Amino acid sequence: MSRIISDVIDDKLIIPCLRDSVGIIKDIDNKSKKSFFSASEIDVSLYDNIVICMSGGKDSIASLLHLLDVGVDRKKIELWHHDVDGREGSTLMDWPFMADYNRKLAEQFDIPLYFSWLEGGFEGEMLKNNSLSKPHKVETPNGLITLERDAKRGKKSTRLKFPQVSASLQTRWCSSALKIDVGRRALTNQSRFDGKKVLFITGERREESSNRAKYNQLEPHMVDCRNGKKSRHVDAWRPVLHWSEDRVWDALKRHDILAPVPYRLGWGRSSCMKCIFNGPSIWATIQHYFPEELDSIADYENQFGLTISRNKRSVKELARDAKPMKINDVDALVQAMKREYKLPILSGPNWDMPAGAFADYKCGPS
Ligand code: SF4
Repeated sequence: MSRIISDVIDDKLIIPCLRDSVGIIKDIDNKSKKSFFSASEIDVSLYDNIVICMSGGKDSIASLLHLLDVGVDRKKIELWHHDVDGREGSTLMDWPFMADYNRKLAEQFDIPLYFSWLEGGFEGEMLKNNSLSKPHKVETPNGLITLERDAKRGKKSTRLKFPQVSASLQTRWCSSALKIDVGRRALTNQSRFDGKKVLFITGERREESSNRAKYNQLEPHMVDCRNGKKSRHVDAWRPVLHWSEDRVWDALKRHDILAPVPYRLGWGRSSCMKCIFNGPSIWATIQHYFPEELDSIADYENQFGLTISRNKRSVKELARDAKPMKINDVDALVQAMKREYKLPILSGPNWDMPAGAFADYKCGPS
């Protein structure tokens, strides 16, 4: 279907239907719950709270910029960032500057940012050995809360392996354990959302994978209970789901947002630095520029007797047989392993497309 025809269908069919649904949204007693494959524009003014899951990557930034472009009341917006490594000392997976980058991005827009994480982070969860999962930690406007696990209902389990490279969230446990579950509990354990209409925004795009191509653009969030006792109405919306990468970069350029560091280094995605979906050239680049970072992953592969790669090749072997990318952006390279984010957020008049834009490798879903 050409883009023009699909736009017409959006205008003539989808959006009017959506307006109907927005009518339903106003009536929280209505039992109907609707999901929409395509919902590029919705009436955001109907929501009391707008939560944007801000990874610090281009697509979640583009989601924020889109909301500002359509004139949403920015007092309703809050950013949530899930710290993949937690705050207990692990540095296994993520870029060291990522938390501080998000902090400074939020400051730039004068929008509150709340961090949340699984205690012990990725590494703690991976080392789970006949034990319960750790509590979640959630920053809120009233301070940090700790959400313990239910010792009676929770089951002890063992991981001792990396998440498997798969679209299934059960085997690729990192996304669910470190992001989806944390966000879910952050919503259900804050009474400030009870009786409210909450729009929960994430930045997936259909172009990224065949799995994401099938996502609904608007649907009730898994913790929605608009018809329940708490009357908590939560819709999940993916405002940039239908966007091309070109359009994403254009949004950052129009708003003078400097490309985040991972793209400047050549990464096609701003995910965990050592994402399980990294291809051989990324592992080779890590080996070349940040060798100790690859060692920490390789040590666990040896300890578990199981590689991240499904073809049983270790990250060291993959790195050895691939060519590292050449990093020409010295500022980004200096920033890469620092915890404090020292580069600007805004680009000034000279905006540059980063080296990692339109990279022809895919890192897979997150
Ligand atoms: S899929 Fe990759 S980016 Fe997402 S949590 Fe797992 S390792 Fe991190």
